[in-house]
Amino acid sequence: MSFEKLGIIKPLLSAIRDLGYETPTTVQTRAIPLVLAKSDIFATAQTGTGKTAAFGLPLLQRLRNPIEGKGVRVVILSPTRELSIQIYEDLESYAKNMKVKIMILVGGKDLEKQKQKLKEGVEIVIATPGRLMEHTESGLSLKDVEAFVLDEADRMLDMGFTKDIRKIHPLLPKRHQTLLFSATYSEKVRKLSKLVLTKPAFIETAKKNTTVDTN
Ligand code: AMP
Repeated sequence: MSFEKLGIIKPLLSAIRDLGYETPTTVQTRAIPLVLAKSDIFATAQTGTGKTAAFGLPLLQRLRNPIEGKGVRVVILSPTRELSIQIYEDLESYAKNMKVKIMILVGGKDLEKQKQKLKEGVEIVIATPGRLMEHTESGLSLKDVEAFVLDEADRMLDMGFTKDIRKIHPLLPKRHQTLLFSATYSEKVRKLSKLVLTKPAFIETAKKNTTVDTN
C-alpha cells in the first residue's frame, strides 16, 4: 500500500515524504479512505500506531479549498495539553504546503489572545475539552464543524471530561463526521460511542491485551 494509492494529494505527499513516511501504517491504510468518504470511525489505536496522520492527513485534504466566511470546520479534542501540542505540531508539518489555519486551545494560555486569533479565522482547532467549553461559553460557534475527532477518548473519560464532551456534542451541527480513537474499549468508551457515532466503521489496531466487541 502507498499514500498515493490511498488517494492522498500532492501537497500532503511531499510533506510526509520530507518526514520520512514511506508506507502507511495499518490504522492509516484503514482509516484514510473512510475519513475521505466522510464515514464515522471507531478505532482502537494506541500512541505509536500512526493514528495522528490517520485522521490528520485525510481531514487536511478535505480542507484543501478554504471556504470564505466559514468558521471552525474541524475540532480535535485531546485529554492533555502535551498531546494537543503533539497533534498540533504533526498537523502543522503535514500542512506546510497548504493554506489551512490550525490553532491550539489549551489552558494556561491567555483566553483573550486565543479569542482574537479565532476571530481572524481558523479552520482546525485542537483543544482540551475544558478549554473548548470556555470558548463556546463565551461565543465560539461550532455550527460550521464538519468533523469532530476524539483522540485518546478513554483517557479523556478517565480524566473526568465526560460532562464537557456531552455539553460540546449538541453544539455541533446535526450532520457532521465523528472519529473516535481510543487505546482501550471500556464500558465508558462504549457508552460515549453510542452517543457520538452514527453507523461507525470499526478499526482495530490494538495490542493483544485489549478486546473489541463490534456487535
Ligand atoms: P502517532 O501514533 O500518531 O503518535 O505516531 C507515532 C510516530 O510515528 C510519530 O512520530 C509519527 O511521526 C510517526 N509516523 C506516523 N505515520 C508514519 C508512517 N507512515 N511512516 C513512518 N512514521 C510514521
